[in-house]
Amino acid sequence: MSKPSLWAIPLGGLGEFGMNMMALRTGDDIIVIDAGMMFPEAELLGVDIVIPDITYLKMNRACVRAIVLTHGHEDHIGALPYILRELNVPIYGTQFTLALVRKRLEEHGLLDKADLREVHAGRHVEIGPFGVEFISVTHSTIDCVALAVRTPLGVIIHTGDFKIDQTPIDGRSFDLHSFARYGHEGVLALFSDSTNVERPGYTPSERAVWTRMEELCRAAPRKVVISCFASSIHRIQQVVDIAEAVGRKIGFVGRSMVENVEIAHTMKRLRIPDGIVIRPQDLRTFDPHKTVILVSGSQAEPMSSLSRVAVDNHRLMSVDPDDTVILSARIIPGNEKAIFRMLDHMFRRRALVYYDNNGGTLHVSGHASQEEQKLILNLVRPRHFIPVHGEYRQLFRHAALAKQVGTVSGEILLIEDGQPIEFTENGAFRREPVPAGRVCVDSGSLEEIEEVVIRDRQHLAEDGIVVPIIAIDKHTGRMESRPEMVTRGFLPTEDANELLAAAREVILRTFEQSNPEEKTDWSVIKEKIRVDLKRYFNKQTSKRPLILPVILEV
Ligand SMILES: [Zn+2]
Ligand SMILES: [Zn+2]
Repeated sequence: MSKPSLWAIPLGGLGEFGMNMMALRTGDDIIVIDAGMMFPEAELLGVDIVIPDITYLKMNRACVRAIVLTHGHEDHIGALPYILRELNVPIYGTQFTLALVRKRLEEHGLLDKADLREVHAGRHVEIGPFGVEFISVTHSTIDCVALAVRTPLGVIIHTGDFKIDQTPIDGRSFDLHSFARYGHEGVLALFSDSTNVERPGYTPSERAVWTRMEELCRAAPRKVVISCFASSIHRIQQVVDIAEAVGRKIGFVGRSMVENVEIAHTMKRLRIPDGIVIRPQDLRTFDPHKTVILVSGSQAEPMSSLSRVAVDNHRLMSVDPDDTVILSARIIPGNEKAIFRMLDHMFRRRALVYYDNNGGTLHVSGHASQEEQKLILNLVRPRHFIPVHGEYRQLFRHAALAKQVGTVSGEILLIEDGQPIEFTENGAFRREPVPAGRVCVDSGSLEEIEEVVIRDRQHLAEDGIVVPIIAIDKHTGRMESRPEMVTRGFLPTEDANELLAAAREVILRTFEQSNPEEKTDWSVIKEKIRVDLKRYFNKQTSKRPLILPVILEV
């Protein structure tokens, strides 16, 4: 009989930011750690989300025993609705993580078929030949775990995302003892989060935002609007506590914000004092001097609540002169333009806007800096070390850091997606690559886009293209002439002229119903026109032409 071996097959998150996924295999048994997504870069026009290529898992369908989740961030669970269609295997995760998974699967009508198994930090489960222990770690959301996976070859530790917060808001501490215990026992390989390897020192505790936030809320001349990620339950807890401390009440705006607050509150993981919540319908009339509002959309995602508030197009609330607006989130690279455009709108409204840590900490990272990463290497003292979660330079620097620490007795392996490692009794070996990469998905239909180009071509071939051309005066925000419409491969019928005339009316209506700020924000107005025209054409012709609005600045 051949000696057992263990394979680690990274399928996402190594060499890029997001869509984390890794398979562990021994014999005919595979478990998958995390199933994340990433948001597409701007070049991927018409793509909603990007997920890992799971060809390898499909080829080995019969071997996949389970997906094990470390926590509920999108870059760890976002690909589940897509992957479950292909591989309906049990999913293990903690209570809050599974609550977020449940919400996603429900949106896609997949919840009934899913087999979700709740786990708790400190416990372990047997999955085929793997024994998985869940180790409590601290991060920017709640209920996060690292995994210790017992395999025939030895123990694998996968940190998931973490920082070492010694004063966590919810009192659930980072379980350093378990890391040390495994280190003492002997660990075959450590896979550790590289996100913040470029930062020296320690990442501050989540509590570091309290002082500045409280100061701003206390000094605010009118209402306070704070935006953070809807999954940042620790941050939300502090805002609730600060509101209480300064004698204000609190409102929640944005679908994800409202949903996550509800979930965490139901689980008793978010403490909300009685009588402190302002009902959504009362937000506009409630005394602004007594108001704090938490709003989702910190990354200026198109049509998110905060983006809409910024252009005064939100049903429930507005930002008015002397209101305080606080962005309590990292500005994710790639989103800078959109975020600063959104903040500019806030400045135009004469709000007092705070968005960086220059005047005091408004945001702290959820990922470990160098000293914390070193501590983990020192506690675990693994035979082999593989940096994960990061772009190539970050993996590279994490490998260098491990070398410096000097506790790795075997190999430090710098690998990227699709490059498996086989562990045997003789060591760790790089093996032939397996298929891996990015798959683009249209989230509405969950249809896989093999190649964006192919989809666009197909789209053009079947339904054609419509280019509405709108001339707008940059200063007055007025439309200077009636919109023009160029079409190719669309409208072969005789009533084409009628249809186009009506489409012009649609554009005029959309434009008229937009407020002055939207009219001068080309990206907003283009998107509104695109959406309205798409709906109109689809209804009239049941075709979905590619619509590319062009705005001529005059
Ligand atoms: Zn995370
Ligand atoms: Zn992550």
